Amino acid sequence: MERTLSIVKPDGVKKNIIGQVISRFEAAGLKVTGLKMVRLTKAEAERFYAVHKERPFFGSLTEFMSSGPVVPMVISGGDAVKKVRDIMGATDFKKAAPGTIRKDFADSIEANIVHGSDAAETAAFEIAYFFNALETF
Ligand code: ATP
Ligand code: MG
Repeated sequence: MERTLSIVKPDGVKKNIIGQVISRFEAAGLKVTGLKMVRLTKAEAERFYAVHKERPFFGSLTEFMSSGPVVPMVISGGDAVKKVRDIMGATDFKKAAPGTIRKDFADSIEANIVHGSDAAETAAFEIAYFFNALETF
């Protein structure tokens, strides 16, 4: 059993596909074990994506991530980190495999619908960023 953090980003919420993202995780045998809707401030988005602070897209990314409500969720199951990232597809939707969330729904490399932790250690930090002990199961 492994846990990871996924987020339906502001573009996914605006496109009304929260349910479709969740359905794809559930269809792969993964379980939603924490779920909420929040709107990040710019500063909160900057802390979440702090690993990218030197990247040229950091300002735009954190503007985007704070532009509307997002849906963070804890996803649990065997090999959850890798499974979620496989279901999401490559960062650049143009390079994403057919049938992935980003291939099917993303509009740009930035507005790519969904986030997924990139490793178990990253997931621990990211889950704790959004959920306290009473909010995950
Ligand atoms: P995420 O961390 O959101 O799951 P990822 O791990 O596939 O995505 P990262 O390299 O961690 O990709 O980049 C974080 C996010 O920053 C991307 O999902 C995308 O929204 C944005 N991003 C990444 N590269 C670029 C780029 N070259 N131009 C604009 N935005 C980018
Ligand atoms: Mg990443």
